[in-house]
Amino acid sequence: MKLLEERIRKDGVVKPGNVLKVDSFLNHRMDVELFDAMGAEFKRLFAKRPINKILTIEASGIGIACVAAQHFHVPVVFAKKSQSINLDGESYVTQIQSFTHKRVYDVIVSKKYLSPEDHILIVDDFLANGCAVIGLIELIQSAGATVEGVGIAVEKGFQEGGVLIRGRGIQVESLAIVESMDAETGTIEFRPQDPEGKGGYGAESL
Ligand code: 5GP
Repeated sequence: MKLLEERIRKDGVVKPGNVLKVDSFLNHRMDVELFDAMGAEFKRLFAKRPINKILTIEASGIGIACVAAQHFHVPVVFAKKSQSINLDGESYVTQIQSFTHKRVYDVIVSKKYLSPEDHILIVDDFLANGCAVIGLIELIQSAGATVEGVGIAVEKGFQEGGVLIRGRGIQVESLAIVESMDAETGTIEFRPQDPEGKGGYGAESL
């Protein structure tokens, strides 16, 4: 999605340790009009899927997921990071290794909000090593629900998450894929988008 790539080039900051900071429009201050364009693009890319719910993880996925949900006309559920496992049996629980905070979180969703009839689109801001998305897939599988796809704002294509999740046969659509980035020079290279210029990458280019 050209609009997002241009914004990352203009306002993204490459930090040491393979971290791309996009606080000025995505992770701290939020450009809701950009989110709206991203939501429309997710709707176009997943148009054929019978999605009835969006699942994300707190905190930074929530804004994008909520705006996207207006294009799908479905509710959003966000997985909560919990300090202690709640053993009352009323929640689905998994563990997720945080890329940015370098620690493991217990992550929960109430059993009330995921059910076997659900057809779920996972939405998150970044895809790096894939731990967050794989954790969300585990929660969905615990509920016996169906993963319809994964919509990501920014994928770091040089980390393994994209390969791991596509390797499971899941449709992953990332609106911008960073091929490489350099903290010293600040340069960011994107994976070329599909030749028809529609935005999106197309399964064949991945
Ligand atoms: P993963 O679980 O795929 O390794 O990492 C994805 C999660 O870590 C996302 O939910 C996102 O919040 C965070 N993350 C990973 N890489 C970056 C990055 O380069 N920049 C920012 N802002 N967040 C990242």
